[in-house]
Amino acid sequence: MFKRLLLDHHYHCPVDRCGDIAQVSLFIGVLCSVILSISQRVANLIMGLLFLVLWLAFGPAAGGEMTILQRNMLKQIPMNITSALSRFNLHPRMTVYVTCPSCSCLHKPVFKPGSSVAEYPSHCTNKPKPWLPICNQCLLQPSSNSLIKPYVYHHFHNFLASLLSRSEIDMIIDKPCDRLMGSLDWPAPLNSKDIWDGEFLRTFQGSLPQTLFIDRKGESRLVFSLNIDFFNVEDVRI
Ligand SMILES: [Zn+2]
Repeated sequence: MFKRLLLDHHYHCPVDRCGDIAQVSLFIGVLCSVILSISQRVANLIMGLLFLVLWLAFGPAAGGEMTILQRNMLKQIPMNITSALSRFNLHPRMTVYVTCPSCSCLHKPVFKPGSSVAEYPSHCTNKPKPWLPICNQCLLQPSSNSLIKPYVYHHFHNFLASLLSRSEIDMIIDKPCDRLMGSLDWPAPLNSKDIWDGEFLRTFQGSLPQTLFIDRKGESRLVFSLNIDFFNVEDVRI
């Protein structure tokens, strides 16, 4: 259930509903953009040229009227790379916050009803400490209104769902769990190569009492570790 709710949109790929010629055309444009890293301007040009070649091949160059099938196929080929990319459902779900350059407070984007344009406060409204005044630091570039310090957050559930939607991942995830479950009669290895060699997961309780986390009974078990890269537990000793 958890997987189905999170994964559904990763299996809905609009390009699957396009005809063969449209799919190949879209793929050429997206390949050039994603794999060859060409600029958006050049990618738009390629999409436009692909459309033109097909239009000439079906229409004037063929010396006749286009069939309904050919006209529908041409409608499936967008003239810009942004639309082509959207047919492959490649873009991860992200939220762009604005960070205060002074106190590092994050400010969420706000959307007006029916609008997809993110709006941000112009100045920081955070009180860094209860006894200090509101920070009031400028958050936007005065000349362009762009964010001085954006912070892009890739939604964790979306990241996880995209990972799990790959067919081979299930097997890769389950393998070390099953290996550990099958080796419980032996002591933990003296040298750990990864987290699955640790003592903790051998005894970590599952969601039901008297069950082990690694006793997955047909489900998958996901283990996460949280790393923070700014706080030195041993204090700073330069
Ligand atoms: Zn601030």
